[in-house]
Amino acid sequence: MSEYNKPLPEIQPYSKGYWDGTKQHKLLIQHCNSCDSNIFYPRRDCPKCWSQELDWIEASGKAEVYTYSVTYEGVEEAFVDDLPIILAWIDLPEGIRMHTNLVECEPEDVHIGMAVEVVFRDVTDDITLPYFRPVKRGV
Ligand SMILES: [Zn+2]
Repeated sequence: MSEYNKPLPEIQPYSKGYWDGTKQHKLLIQHCNSCDSNIFYPRRDCPKCWSQELDWIEASGKAEVYTYSVTYEGVEEAFVDDLPIILAWIDLPEGIRMHTNLVECEPEDVHIGMAVEVVFRDVTDDITLPYFRPVKRGV
């Protein structure tokens, strides 16, 4: 594995379950057992009812592009090789709107409403990052 030189998440006690999930190539989201809400990003308390009765559920990994933007220049040096970078807000069927990078596609191929799926990249021995890519037709 080549040296990963970009920022890495700082794992907190309440987000450890999420990062343990990505390491197993599972996209986990929090679920509140008190009010039945799905929660993202990971938190200590449910943002709707303040309960701490939170569990993890596995998301389908499917989503739809809500909106996106493309960055062609003006990034920190560590990200230059990734240009153009496609940042997107995506809607998960679990009721979650998530910020992500779209990968394995060209900017001109992205459109609002496009079906995407999670893909995982093991960037260090300890950290696996989730990205999303277009769902390939006929697979
Ligand atoms: Zn709740």
